[in-house]
Formats: sequence, structure tokens, C-alpha cells
Amino acid sequence: MTDSVATDYDVVVVGLGPTGATLAILLGLCGLSVLVLEREAAIYDLPRAVHFDDEVMRVFQTIGITDEVTKTIRVNPGMRFVDSSGELLLDWPRPVEVGVNGWHASYRFHQPELERILRSALDRFASVQVQTGANVEQVEDRGGGAEISFEQSGTDGNQTVSAGYVVGCDGARSLVRRSMKTPWKI
Ligand SMILES: Cc1cc2nc3c(=O)[nH]c(=O)nc-3n(C[C@H](O)[C@H](O)[C@H](O)COP(=O)(O)OP(=O)(O)OC[C@H]3O[C@@H](n4cnc5c(N)ncnc54)[C@H](O)[C@@H]3O)c2cc1C
Repeated sequence: MTDSVATDYDVVVVGLGPTGATLAILLGLCGLSVLVLEREAAIYDLPRAVHFDDEVMRVFQTIGITDEVTKTIRVNPGMRFVDSSGELLLDWPRPVEVGVNGWHASYRFHQPELERILRSALDRFASVQVQTGANVEQVEDRGGGAEISFEQSGTDGNQTVSAGYVVGCDGARSLVRRSMKTPWKI
């Protein structure tokens, strides 16, 4: 993208998992106008990710959710990975003392609970709009901005919005990544 052009939003975030919700709050703190487009109508209510560290807690501190989060997590003294016969594959102990970042090195959490906290924190920002049931189908670079087309459940036809920047927080099979034609590499 080169010259800036007038757009509907400063940033469109695609995907409202933990990454998209955290980013949208950080952008809201910067006073930017943000639209978050999320395909699903509701939070996926099963646990998936289970651990985060002290650096993540620093981010949660920045976005003001540690009081809520600490009610739902516990300090993780480590993990032992075993195979189907119970044989130890990896022992990964974690220190339980508070470390240099002011938080513990590892926490266990319940992903749906964390997502609920993040989503309610988003309500603090008038400049951040969340649209669920919005399946993004196309992202096009327009030079100085991008156009995002999505299908809104319950409505006919596609809708299009423009933004200075689009951030793909749309998970492992990211449409935004494919639109950018970047390779998927570790
Ligand atoms: C069974 C299972 C176990 C897991 N265990 C672990 C674990 O132990 N540790 C760990 O770190 N991680 C684990 N994960 C992965 C974990 O779920 C992810 O790390 C975490 O959810 C990533 O968050 P995210 O916000 O980046 O992406 P996601 O949570 O995947 O969120 C992406 C969001 O984007 C939305 N979206 C996708 N495409 C579009 C589109 N075109 N338009 C609009 N919205 C879109 C999706 O609906 C989704 O809400 C596990 C996953 C599974 C399935």
C-alpha cells in the first residue's frame, strides 16, 4: 500500500479469537477506529489453548483485564508429556515464583473463559465495532487501503468496507494470509 486514501475504518481485524480480541483492545486504547469481523455467532465453547506465560500477562495488564483473568487461571508448575502407554516424553517444569516480568512463568487457563473476558473488555471502546456472523470472503489491496468483502449471516449479498489496514487474526487456515499470497512457514 502506498498513498493514504479515505477509508471507513483505520483497521479491520478479521477474526475474534484471543489474538483478534486482544489486538482490537490494543487498537482501541490507541483511539483508532476498528471493525472486527468474526464468522461465528458465538464463542467456541470448548477448551483448546491451555497455557500462557508472564509476557502474555504483561499484555493483559496493558489492556486492563488482569483482575478478571486472575480469577479464572492457576499458576502452572509445569507439564509432563506422556505417550499412550504413560511413558514420559518430556518433563517441562516451570518456576512457581513471580519472575522479572512481575508475573508467574506459566498459567493454565480455560480458553472460552478468557475469550469472554476479552470480549467484554472490548465493550469499553466506542471506536471498536464487533460484527459477528460476518464471514470475510475477499481482501483486496487498493493502494493506500484495502477493501474487505464479507457475507453477513441473515442478509442477502455481500457487504464491502474499506480500511487503512487489515490484520488477519483468522486462525490456522487464514483467508487474509492467502489473500496476501504469503507462504505458510515455521
Ligand atoms: C483441539 C485443539 C487443541 C488445542 N490445544 C492448544 C494448546 O494446547 N495450546 C495452544 O497454544 N493452542 C492450542 N490450540 C490452538 C488454539 O486454539 C489456538 O492457539 C488459539 O485459538 C489461537 O487463537 P487465535 O485468536 O490466533 O485464532 P482462533 O482462535 O483460531 O480464532 C480465529 C477466529 O477467526 C475466525 N475466522 C476464521 N476465518 C474467518 C473469516 N474468513 N471471516 C471471519 N472470521 C474468520 C474464526 O471463526 C475464529 O473465531 C488447540 C486447538 C485445537 C483445535
